[in-house]
Amino acid sequence: MKTGTEEKRAFITLPALDAINNIRHAFTTRQNGLGARNSGIKSPDGWNAVAEAFGITPDRLVTVNQVHGEAIVTVDERNYADMRTAQADGLITKVRGIAIGIETADCVPVLLIDPVTPAVGAVHAGWRSTVQKIVQKAVRRMQDEFGSDPSRMIAAFGPAIGPECYEVDEPVMGPVQQNFPFWSDVALSRGKGKWGLDLIELNRRELLRAGLAEKNVHSLGMCTSCRKDLFYSFRVEGRTGRMLSAVMIKAG
Ligand SMILES: [Zn+2]
Repeated sequence: MKTGTEEKRAFITLPALDAINNIRHAFTTRQNGLGARNSGIKSPDGWNAVAEAFGITPDRLVTVNQVHGEAIVTVDERNYADMRTAQADGLITKVRGIAIGIETADCVPVLLIDPVTPAVGAVHAGWRSTVQKIVQKAVRRMQDEFGSDPSRMIAAFGPAIGPECYEVDEPVMGPVQQNFPFWSDVALSRGKGKWGLDLIELNRRELLRAGLAEKNVHSLGMCTSCRKDLFYSFRVEGRTGRMLSAVMIKAG
């Protein structure tokens, strides 16, 4: 992980992804007021700083109306301007110079990169979308639509709430237990119907099941709840800002 020399660095990147020549990516932090929602949760954030860093106009940084479902949209030159109102929790594209992003504040953001085609994906994996196997579906969609080879894909988890801070009860653990036979490996019982759930590890296993190689799955490894100095945390703060996890195939 690279946090730079400036204390108020607004983006974090992963060296493993920086090393991919034709790809740009960024995980924003709460520094510089980026992602703040002082004017209310309904107004979309201005992610202009990210667009500027990527060398694109702000309209080419595409986010969707995230609804904790399983829908994945394919973004292209014809539809990118209309995506803000599309109800989805995953985006994929093979268009150069269109950045796709996911907004989170505890939920797991996943970036998917096929450096060969090239093609990219961004997924919002809260527990509801996770039990609907959204990361597996995103990998499959990139396979079907772009011919991406999972064994050559690279994935990265952005800032998300860690298992020590993510306590869940039966309404969450029920569906997790139903959908994942290995659930006891990713959830630690705390007694009295409470568990500490590791949503990143759960989704990491899903990526491996989808065909990604272990060495190609990376994680920022920073908990939004523990690092309130750097990140927004919905669990800790309630109504709060959002981080953007964005990825783009370079235009040039
Ligand atoms: Zn934590």
